[in-house]
Amino acid sequence: MIVYLDNNATTRLAPEALEAMLPFLQESYGNAGSGHVLGHLSEGAVVQARDQVAALLGCSPAEILFNSGGTEGINHAFRGVFEAFPKKRHFVVSAVEHPAVMAVCEWLKLNGAEVTVVGVDDEGRLDLAALEASIRPDTALVSLMAANNESGVLFPLEKLAQIVKGKGALLHVDATQAIGKAALDLARLPIDLLNGSGHKFHGPKGTGVLFIRRGLRLKPFMLGGHQERGRRGGTENVPGIVGLGKACEMALTHLPHVVAMSELRDQLESAIQSTIPDVHIHGAGASRLPNTSFMGFQGLEGEALLLKLSERGVCVSTGSACTTGQKEPSHVLRAMNVPKGYAMGTIRISLSRYTTAEEIQKVSGMLPGIVEDLRRSDLFARV
Ligand code: PLP
Repeated sequence: MIVYLDNNATTRLAPEALEAMLPFLQESYGNAGSGHVLGHLSEGAVVQARDQVAALLGCSPAEILFNSGGTEGINHAFRGVFEAFPKKRHFVVSAVEHPAVMAVCEWLKLNGAEVTVVGVDDEGRLDLAALEASIRPDTALVSLMAANNESGVLFPLEKLAQIVKGKGALLHVDATQAIGKAALDLARLPIDLLNGSGHKFHGPKGTGVLFIRRGLRLKPFMLGGHQERGRRGGTENVPGIVGLGKACEMALTHLPHVVAMSELRDQLESAIQSTIPDVHIHGAGASRLPNTSFMGFQGLEGEALLLKLSERGVCVSTGSACTTGQKEPSHVLRAMNVPKGYAMGTIRISLSRYTTAEEIQKVSGMLPGIVEDLRRSDLFARV
């Protein structure tokens, strides 16, 4: 039996989302832009999905753009702002952003922009004084994540918005990991742009949303037809949009219960800390997502631990800590100053609302033996 604990990488599709999608993969296959009865059915379903997303995020449905996922939303936000404000050529990001943000920053630099990277402390908390000092009159956009995909550390959005808006820059939030796990209320938070991805909260893969606050005009990222009110060309992925909408509705009903997930995560962490020596939980001193545990075991390789767990049917990740063949800790671990001995032995365990207490007990039971074996073999390898 598989124990799936890699929910920050992707999640299982909620059965309710699958059920909502099926008619649009089978008999209701009309193009949402068509004037006939099947077209109207699809169009109505897209309208309903937009309402479901808006209800979860606390915004107006007209501010929601459907797209293919987090990466597209990030590209659209940055490149849209870059094009819309040609006199502002300065951008600010944190040192622990997702590789999609980092890659777009490289593109910005190649195209004449300047990018300031704001650091974090050892717990992964953003340096707010440095953020404030980094924003200039020519800063077009500050882009910060709501929650880190590796450590689960949450950035204080209210405070960030206060700082960024106080200095007159636009604020983009990559909420890919936060949606469904932490409350977000765009009616209260003066964020200008925010992106999310369906497959991170039990929606289908290849679906996402970009929130663009009313009044902010960005050129379409995808040139084409009139779809999405001219903001993204291409026939709408109706089944995907319907599944994403349903996943938002489910997330809204489950949000009050995420505390159960954090209790399971905390149980796992205390079990591990009481049975295994030399473990460090990265970011445990900061506010974190309720589902994420990013733990470093000194004296072993995270990749080897991942493989041993996988042999026993347990799916975890190294974050992007040290992907196969890459012998350097991730940029997140480096930004958090994690000593190399712990960084190289890091794995990320990420729960979902489907994770059970039995699964957590099973993993806490098997980890001490595996860690001991790996540490012993690592020691032999060195002599
Ligand atoms: N941003 C963060 C924080 C993520 O964790 C991810 C996915 O891992 C992305 C962006 C990219 O999202 P997608 O896979 O939908 O392109």
